[in-house]
Amino acid sequence: MRNALRLTVLALALSTLSSGRMTAQQGVPPPDQFFGFKIGADGDLARYPKILEYFQLLAKQTDRIKYEELGKTTMGNSYPLLRISSPANLKNFDRLVEINRRLADPRGLSEAEAEKLAAEGKPFYFIYATIHSTEVSNGQAIINIVHRLATDSSPQIREILDNSVVLMVPSQNPDGQVLVIDHWYKTKGTPFNRVFPDLYHKYVGHDDNRDWFMFTQKETRMNIEYVQNKYKPIITHDMHQQGGAGARIFVPPFTEPFDPNMHPLLRMQQGTVGQAMAHALMSEGKKGVAWEDQYDMWSPARQYMVYHGQPRILTEIANSNLADPVKSANGRPLGWQESTAHFPVPYDQDTWTLGQQVDYGVTVAFAGMTEVAKYGRNWLMNFYRVGRDMSTGQFPGNTAAPYAYVIPAEQRDNFGTFEMLDILQFGAVEIHKATATFSANGKQYPAGSFVIKTAQPYGGFANTMLSVQNYPDLRLFPGGPPEPPYDVTGHTLWMLTGVTVDSVAKPFEAAELLVTVASVAGRTSSD
Ligand SMILES: [Zn+2]
Repeated sequence: MRNALRLTVLALALSTLSSGRMTAQQGVPPPDQFFGFKIGADGDLARYPKILEYFQLLAKQTDRIKYEELGKTTMGNSYPLLRISSPANLKNFDRLVEINRRLADPRGLSEAEAEKLAAEGKPFYFIYATIHSTEVSNGQAIINIVHRLATDSSPQIREILDNSVVLMVPSQNPDGQVLVIDHWYKTKGTPFNRVFPDLYHKYVGHDDNRDWFMFTQKETRMNIEYVQNKYKPIITHDMHQQGGAGARIFVPPFTEPFDPNMHPLLRMQQGTVGQAMAHALMSEGKKGVAWEDQYDMWSPARQYMVYHGQPRILTEIANSNLADPVKSANGRPLGWQESTAHFPVPYDQDTWTLGQQVDYGVTVAFAGMTEVAKYGRNWLMNFYRVGRDMSTGQFPGNTAAPYAYVIPAEQRDNFGTFEMLDILQFGAVEIHKATATFSANGKQYPAGSFVIKTAQPYGGFANTMLSVQNYPDLRLFPGGPPEPPYDVTGHTLWMLTGVTVDSVAKPFEAAELLVTVASVAGRTSSD
């Protein structure tokens, strides 16, 4: 007993010593040392290539990070992915991905088998920053986030590392990060406007986050093909900034309307994580937190993940002037000053800085990661439940989905048909092709017609893309004018591509094969 105790003490002492020595030997430089200023300091922004250099160094010097280059962007910048977890989980990464994939498409899997996999697996928390390049603070916050995950041995960080895997894309638009921050330095200290005056994505400018249903840009395609569809994260955290006149930060839940093709469990998860974030912010005395404000869940253009088993976690932090503080003109506190049910504590200062934005970003990221790591098994089971319900087409609220969509073989524009099917296939939708004539809903279809059933793991995506949207009639007040929608209200893919598609409500029989549509050559080329 005594010996055992002594051994334990010795082992503990050794492990403390060895981790202390490892850090010293590894000489992981803290961000301020590496970049030459404190991250979030007024007037300074870490540049994207230097950030990648730092992450590569951390990957080399610790055993908690794996750095993987996924490809080059439209303008030739690096687009990497960081895997961050305990060394044991990183070693076991392939098996963990296999579990995610099985739970994502649970056809033929029993509940008991799913439970076993959920107990063995680890939830993947996917986070990316700066899809909007002028929203620079999150691109800086991730430096502190990664450094802490790489070096901190507190119980909170250990829990995240041991019980989950963090996937991180440092910037969803690296080209814009380079352009915007280079321009910032070029004009620093001059009276000229420091916001980059041209498109900061070569083709789409600012709103590159409206491409999650057409997949036209390289960055979108890398994110979906090499992260979403390949590793099957169970949650995606999308870090943004918003205007400076309202709340200091928005967290979920979202406001009306919701796309009915999204499983309701995901809405619960959005609420849970968003409120854990709000709770963490307010516990730390960070004021001006709002939820259920302006951001809705209607358009697939912004939310690929919710049709692929994951809640979308949007965080929107109030802008400053890139790296310069904002100060209220009249000396009054910034933002809304009325406390409401969804905005309990107004912000009470008249300035707002990059450093504060960075701190808010760090807080919400760790709150989200902690929530997922703490209840990992439950998260994986919900991932399974969503996949199971989607595969059978049976989920609460899903009353409108037809049995299938039929794309008749004869079309006015074969390329349009091909393009539509290619988009759906890229979104992981299964496509069948009839091998013989069949009839559905009283109509005859020749062999070669395509059939897309809505009861499949990503049937929610198929249905939102192939159904005709009826945007809800939301009014500013009863009897008042319509509430302006946040974004586009319709996205029916066959209307966009000029294809004839029939919606068939009731099941029918057809001899068919699961097919792969050959990819359109040159679709992902950079020019
Ligand atoms: Zn944004």
